[in-house]
Amino acid sequence: MDDKKCPKCGSALGEVFETKTGRKLQRCSTGRWNPETKQTEGCDFVKWLPVEPTVLDEKCPKCGAPLLMAVTRFGKKMKKCSTATWDPKTKTAGGCDYIEWIKGTTEALDEDCPKCGSKLVLFTTAAGKKLKKCSTNKWDPQQKIATGCDYVEWL
Ligand SMILES: [Zn+2]
Ligand SMILES: [Zn+2]
Ligand SMILES: [Zn+2]
Repeated sequence: MDDKKCPKCGSALGEVFETKTGRKLQRCSTGRWNPETKQTEGCDFVKWLPVEPTVLDEKCPKCGAPLLMAVTRFGKKMKKCSTATWDPKTKTAGGCDYIEWIKGTTEALDEDCPKCGSKLVLFTTAAGKKLKKCSTNKWDPQQKIATGCDYVEWL
């Protein structure tokens, strides 16, 4: 397949464009985004480019193969086994299925929140920072606000 040409209309693809979340895409060069009508004029083909996974200096705990750092379409990071495969035709995963999501870990603590008396949890961020926070504290991804008790103690 010629990946420099649009599979829809055969025109050349435009330049690689990087989104705010770090994903890369290429539009068909005959397509134009019209901000007034909020529609694509011409060919609407968009090609999403895969974010290349990086090989880590870490071994898979399941099979011993090197691990890869991969970024999903939604910008979430994970470590996965380099022997893992995905067959888009049959939609089945092959190879080793080890996956470790990078997001930070939460541990229950036997300590009470000084603000509300609920239990505290120890939270370790993806960057390795530790903090104690109230177990009633939750993040609402829809409203993009934190709910519950806002007690936080950085360690
Ligand atoms: Zn096209
Ligand atoms: Zn593995
Ligand atoms: Zn609290």
